[in-house]
Amino acid sequence: MPKRALITGVTGQDGSYLAEYLLEQGYEVWGLVRGQANPRKSRISRLATALNFVNGDLMDQASLVSAVDKVQPDEVYNLGAISFVPMSWEQPELVTEVNGMGVLRMLEAIRMVSGLKTPHRDSSGQIRFYQASSSEMFGKAAETPQSETTNFHPRSPYGVAKVYGHFITRNYRESFGMYAVSGMLFNHESPRRGSEFVTRKISLAVARIKLGVQDKLHLGNLDAVRDWGFAGDYVRAMHAMLQQEDPGDWVIGTGVMHTVRDAVEIAFDHAGLNWKDHVVIDPALVRPAEVEVLCADTTRACAALNWKPAVSFGELMRMMVDSDLRQVAREHEYGDLLTAANW
Ligand code: NDP
Ligand code: GDP
Repeated sequence: MPKRALITGVTGQDGSYLAEYLLEQGYEVWGLVRGQANPRKSRISRLATALNFVNGDLMDQASLVSAVDKVQPDEVYNLGAISFVPMSWEQPELVTEVNGMGVLRMLEAIRMVSGLKTPHRDSSGQIRFYQASSSEMFGKAAETPQSETTNFHPRSPYGVAKVYGHFITRNYRESFGMYAVSGMLFNHESPRRGSEFVTRKISLAVARIKLGVQDKLHLGNLDAVRDWGFAGDYVRAMHAMLQQEDPGDWVIGTGVMHTVRDAVEIAFDHAGLNWKDHVVIDPALVRPAEVEVLCADTTRACAALNWKPAVSFGELMRMMVDSDLRQVAREHEYGDLLTAANW
């Protein structure tokens, strides 16, 4: 019997890579989808014949119970969230509901379907649960790099909601003996990244500038430092975490720091452009409370999970520019140009 996985957020960047990876591993994969005619289903359309879909929403407890009951998964990957940090200042309550309470709802769905009652100490044969926690929980951390033992100091409602999701995951592990894992992943990108995130905003703008359909790129804080990796590498770590004997919390990143300015330089250079001719600093894009530096200490994960990233930051940025050059050229050909993102 193949293992069965249920993925929330399957239409997102990570969900699409994870679905591909689990299918390669021989899993039967189910994606939780919400909404009629979800436009983001096109991201996974090439997998449509191999993937199974079940309806549900992290805002709706009953739908999650029914989805878990229907699928009877061996593993649940909770990747569903409103993932763009600035949204969380505009709609803090919604982001808290989906990114925080949504985790509780999914844990409750698993608990109810598995008939777990407290106290329960045997996690064998249980549904295994992965929570997509975030380096944003570290926020204004007192130490760099950040590891599994670094204290949290979130700087946005997004980060605060993720801290709730992290601790409720750990609490269900401790209270009910659930096999519940939290992956504290640092920023990871790809050609499938949403165009509001800075790396993709840059790669898309570079492609549009190169092809003559845009001239300026408006950005905020160029000095912010992130540890950026490739999403395709990180989904392997998610899977590896759920194959360990005991559940735990894991930090995943590359351990390499770059500024937003580095990302800009690499992307423009790759297209043979001078970024100084095109980048405009826009104070409106500077965040009310910035996370200045994030860098992962992945000592534990690399050793215990036998995991390491394969794609470097330079390769990642160039991959994204190349992909956007192809996409923009295609759109240009069909006269269906995207409007410039200005997040
Ligand atoms: P995306 O924004 O690409 O995808 C988010 C997914 O969540 C979409 O499939 C979306 O579905 C789904 N979703 C949104 N609201 C709900 C809801 N109410 N119920 C069910 N599903 C919902 O994010 P990523 O793939 O980049 O990230 C995956 C997870 O990892 C997220 O939880 C994110 O916060 C976390 N994370 C991401 C990092 C990164 O660098 N990418 C870093 C650390 C953590 P729909 O198509 O219906 O909108
Ligand atoms: P985040 O780390 O999850 O918030 O990912 P983002 O890609 O949205 O932002 C990464 C960093 O880039 C943050 O420190 C932002 O302040 C910085 N940044 C600078 N200019 C921009 C911009 O125009 N858009 C976005 N999204 N981020 C920007």
